[in-house]
Amino acid sequence: MSGQFLPVTRQECIERGIKQLDFVYVIGDAYVDHSSFGPAIISRVLESHGYTVGIISQPDWKDERSIQALGEPRLAFLVSSGNMDSMVNHYTVSKKHRHKDSFSPGGIMGKRPDRAVVVYGNLIRKSYKHTPIILGGIEASLRRMGHYDYWSDQIKRSILLDSGADMISYGMGERSIVEIADALASGIDIKDLTFIRGTVYRSKTIEHIPEPIMLPAFSDIQENKLDYAKSFAVQYKNTDPYQAGTLVEDYQNQGYVVQNPPAYPLSMQEMDDVYDLPYMRTYHPMYKKEGEIPAIEEIRFSLTSNRGCFGSCSFCALTFHQGRIIQVRSHESLIKEASIMTQDAEFKGYIHDVGGPTADFRQPACQKQLTKGACSHRQCLYPTPCKNLVADHSDYLALLRKLRKLPKIKKVFIRSGIRFDYVLADKKTPFLKELAEYHVSGQLRVAPEHVSEKVLSKMGKPSHQVYMEFLKKYEECCKKSGKEQYAVPYFMSSHPGCGIREAIELAEYIRDMGFMPEQVQDFYPTPSTIATCMYYTQVDPVTMESVYVPKNPHEKAMQRALIQYRNPENRQLVIEALKKGNREDLIGFGPKCLIRPRRTGSEKSERFSNDNKNIKAKKKKSIRNVHRKKQ
Ligand code: SF4
Repeated sequence: MSGQFLPVTRQECIERGIKQLDFVYVIGDAYVDHSSFGPAIISRVLESHGYTVGIISQPDWKDERSIQALGEPRLAFLVSSGNMDSMVNHYTVSKKHRHKDSFSPGGIMGKRPDRAVVVYGNLIRKSYKHTPIILGGIEASLRRMGHYDYWSDQIKRSILLDSGADMISYGMGERSIVEIADALASGIDIKDLTFIRGTVYRSKTIEHIPEPIMLPAFSDIQENKLDYAKSFAVQYKNTDPYQAGTLVEDYQNQGYVVQNPPAYPLSMQEMDDVYDLPYMRTYHPMYKKEGEIPAIEEIRFSLTSNRGCFGSCSFCALTFHQGRIIQVRSHESLIKEASIMTQDAEFKGYIHDVGGPTADFRQPACQKQLTKGACSHRQCLYPTPCKNLVADHSDYLALLRKLRKLPKIKKVFIRSGIRFDYVLADKKTPFLKELAEYHVSGQLRVAPEHVSEKVLSKMGKPSHQVYMEFLKKYEECCKKSGKEQYAVPYFMSSHPGCGIREAIELAEYIRDMGFMPEQVQDFYPTPSTIATCMYYTQVDPVTMESVYVPKNPHEKAMQRALIQYRNPENRQLVIEALKKGNREDLIGFGPKCLIRPRRTGSEKSERFSNDNKNIKAKKKKSIRNVHRKKQ
């Protein structure tokens, strides 16, 4: 139904002549009807296939009646924690409560429970014993099989078992959800839906599966870290729709959890159709009193041009969720959306982003991917670009040029990450030149993440030399276009493989860089990444070699402090780290020293005064270099 939000109350259902909804969608985020929100996409896709969907967003999980607000659906309850895993949303890497929830009205915390999918699933079961429950979204997708859970420091069962649900629609769910809906509508029992790609289900037997790939049993991965690493490696190799098999995890007397191969990627036409659905492009007016949903600001004037990523960084779960095959929207579809944006009263002429998981991936890594899928035995970009990789920005450039020319558009920025090794591999197009000239909002955010080859190899990132070459070329392009703008690198501390020596190597690079990064990302072991598996098992699941993992909070604090070694608050930690790394040569007065030794009396007060002067000067330099983030 065009031009209105989906119903959120029974009264609205009655007004629209709906006696019983086909689906009731329970979500942990506020209800935002925008294509950047998974539940909005899935509910609009279902609606476009003739199904009615009602939304219960952020129900009171202590009150069973909140889940009964729209009555029992005819076909199923759908459940999603929202755009983020609820634990990542609620806690920092040091397991402290966050203060703001960008997906709740007014940014207020506490609108959803921890482990939202499990809580909502069980809440529904209290009232509706037999209604099918289908889980979707990132939380369910990345916890679809036995997995390591950082917050409890435990191996947890498939979320299917803990939530009391019948099925998980994992990955990008447009295809799967329509197949599920059609099958349920035709009268097939949810227990018999064992054949849909992109789904995970429970089963008492596995005789119906022609060639099951048996993962180590859950009891084994619970007891033995190496078994978990083996299980994860098999799961990781089975993320490609063209090559994956059916995975089975044995839960002994509770039966099996079965993962069907991923859904096939959407064609360009199908992507256009999904993004062309009649989204209201904003949050539901019921939140007006409580305040805006902060996340809308990031996406209101941004365009999603692609999905999927063949970058395969170890600390990112994208491969596990969206896969490595790139799916894109057509220029026409994106231009149409951009034109709609320009009609918004608040549009100031700036498109904030034209991107996706990686902005400049607008085509598959190679031709083979289109029919045979991505290789399971090697990466497309790591350690060096594959010889079959087609690095070509022609299509992206053509798109950006068209967007720049649209009426009412002053600037088109790129804020999603770009892969600098992919940019360098493109020898044909002037992408870097045009990026520098037209698409950088003061600073280009790039993510080399580290400088130590040892750490980079565990991150699946290119060699430091590649980053240096990119920087040189980027600076040349900026100079040629007369732009005074800089690249601001993002670095990560405490990634598996990073010891104190490697952290000091990074601090030395930062010293030579001349300014201190404003943000440091401490490695966060989120569900189902290669790096999280390394964190837990201390083994690289790809090679089964052992990996050093900084787990001790004090060592992690030292690594973090080293990145911002100029911050006076970090002084003690930095000294301790340098001593631990046998690099006391970096404590002193020489130009290469990171920190000065402690003095006493008048020397001390003189030093503090000089230090303060230096900090102020460096801060000024840093501010000059690091431009304001927001336009
Ligand atoms: S052949 Fe190379 S570029 Fe193509 S999927 Fe395999 S690793 Fe990636």
